[in-house]
Amino acid sequence: MLALAVGTAVSLTAVGAAGDSTRDKRVVGHMPPLPEERLAEPIEFKCGFVVHEWRGSPRGEREVAHVEELCALALERLDPYLARHGLRRQHDRDFTYDVAFLPDSREYRALNDINFRFYYRRTTYVITGYTSFTNHFLYMTGDQNDLEFDVTLLHEQFHAMSDFYGIWTSLDGDQDERVAADEQLAVGFTRYLGYGE
Ligand SMILES: [Zn+2]
Repeated sequence: MLALAVGTAVSLTAVGAAGDSTRDKRVVGHMPPLPEERLAEPIEFKCGFVVHEWRGSPRGEREVAHVEELCALALERLDPYLARHGLRRQHDRDFTYDVAFLPDSREYRALNDINFRFYYRRTTYVITGYTSFTNHFLYMTGDQNDLEFDVTLLHEQFHAMSDFYGIWTSLDGDQDERVAADEQLAVGFTRYLGYGE
């Protein structure tokens, strides 16, 4: 269920077999929401999440409140967790990060659409969350009945905070080693919060 932390280069390219007008309209590798997928107004959470897309799952007061609660917890506990590892935020600006809640299917433009939307994602297995350090976007299932919802959100939020606060780039090693270390930190973070991994 854990997502790889980093995305690769993104390009917006029309694809298709000649004569197939449906395929011609599909875009490859464009991870952020397309205009028609965006909410009319983004939902701005107090904790800093800005949700631009929320498709395929309920989005009522209860769901919004649950996200706010988890997000606030992760933000509040970040500093003490980092201190345990001898790490710290590289700046003090207020956290903000773009988020998209997607259906978790393999359908076109869903979370596990590795043929088109997430073509450049390194993981090909089914996942419940993914944070792209390339376009600074957190993508995950919005289905709060999914048993992995809470731990996935907290895990991905760790990556998002690490990206925003320049934590993973301050780690030792080359890029692959830093990404691997960030993954271990994200796994440890949800454990630290009492949510398992
Ligand atoms: Zn991860």
